[in-house]
Amino acid sequence: MTFKNTKAFAQELDAKDVLKNYRSEFIFPQHNGKNVIYFTGNSLGLQPKIAKQYVDDVMNDWGNLAVEGHFYAQKPWWDYHERFANPLSKIVGAKPSEVTVMNTLTVNLHLLMVSFYRPTATRFKIICEEKAFPSDQYMFQSQVQSHGLDPKETIVEIKRREGEHNIRLEDVLATIASVGDELALVLIGGVNYYTGQVFDIKTITEAGHKAGAKVGWDLAHAAGNIKLQLHEWNVDFAAWCSYKYMNSGPGNASGCFIHEKHHHDKDLPRFAGWWGHNKARRFKMEPDFDPVQGADGWQISNLPILSLAPYLASVELFDAIGMDQLIAKRDTITAYLEFILHEIDKEVTSTFEIITPSNPSERASQLSVFLHGEGRPLFDYLMKNGVITDWREPNVIRLAPVPLYCSYEDMYDFGQILKQGILAIHQQ
Ligand SMILES: *Cc1c(COP(=O)(O)O)cnc(C)c1O
Repeated sequence: MTFKNTKAFAQELDAKDVLKNYRSEFIFPQHNGKNVIYFTGNSLGLQPKIAKQYVDDVMNDWGNLAVEGHFYAQKPWWDYHERFANPLSKIVGAKPSEVTVMNTLTVNLHLLMVSFYRPTATRFKIICEEKAFPSDQYMFQSQVQSHGLDPKETIVEIKRREGEHNIRLEDVLATIASVGDELALVLIGGVNYYTGQVFDIKTITEAGHKAGAKVGWDLAHAAGNIKLQLHEWNVDFAAWCSYKYMNSGPGNASGCFIHEKHHHDKDLPRFAGWWGHNKARRFKMEPDFDPVQGADGWQISNLPILSLAPYLASVELFDAIGMDQLIAKRDTITAYLEFILHEIDKEVTSTFEIITPSNPSERASQLSVFLHGEGRPLFDYLMKNGVITDWREPNVIRLAPVPLYCSYEDMYDFGQILKQGILAIHQQ
């Protein structure tokens, strides 16, 4: 498609957008009486209007039924989480029995590492990406230490090449091959939070298995953003938070995937709790743990229903739309944003650089922009003028034109504000 940097062209794209009506299903913060241009759906998704109803339903059931809500609420609480299995499994490409919701992301990755990181004297190393999200780094270090191992000798980071912003697939595969028989686990962020790079999950998973390791994925920036086929790709386990692209609300429950091939292995070590116990016998309060077959067997506690309620509202919205439609718009609106950035770059002599891969198959709903020249003052200008983005040290803003609620006109308007901001800074 040939793009134009005009308001009329952007409005034409909006008029043709099959998802355009979903924008009004979300609540936007206001700036001078208008919706902000929201680029941080990769950090905290906007609130779907319907979410409040789902929360109110739980509050009302709690008020009216109290303890009886566990079994007699409109959506009973004791198996509330099972309502996620169908819609969520479609979002991540799994069988319904392979997904569950519980806890929060880092907690779930810790629990999954208990099951799938079982170091031996000879096979004990973990491969992750260089500059992984800090929580993941702390998790790796503390897990390794809990096994009495030294993080320096155990954690192998895949490096970027000198002068490059992204990690090459060939370097991931070479690292896996070189660690070889010592490799116990590969655990990488499916979409890098900083650069927006999308990893080839299928190929990397295959390579990890060939080396004899387990392969898990942190899908914080992938769930609800990219096409996933976790079952088919034979991924051992994965987890994601729900408050980024999945719009569930701050700090809300995480989702987990555990491949079916592990469901029958009752000897797999895990940290257990009563919500993972045989569903038919859970309330018999028996002493011996008998895990549910499936991802629900990793449940520990009874669930935070108030946190699940807005997540369920959002998951049902995703289910109504389907990932394919979202991804089709995602690619066009991201390409349009990229085009706008290049156009503005030509109009004003600026020095920003898009560090996200330009190849559409290696990126999704995020462009990370290195502000070599204008830096922090430009970020401040954007924020003051109704563009919500975020700042990452040393000099990067991340722009996520989330297809569910961002419009093409937002991209055009953003370009104009960006241009004014650069010119204002140059004049100072
Ligand atoms: C957002 C994010 C997290 C956040 O973890 P929480 O446990 O939800 O606080 C972890 N890992 C990655 C890669 C993230 O992007």
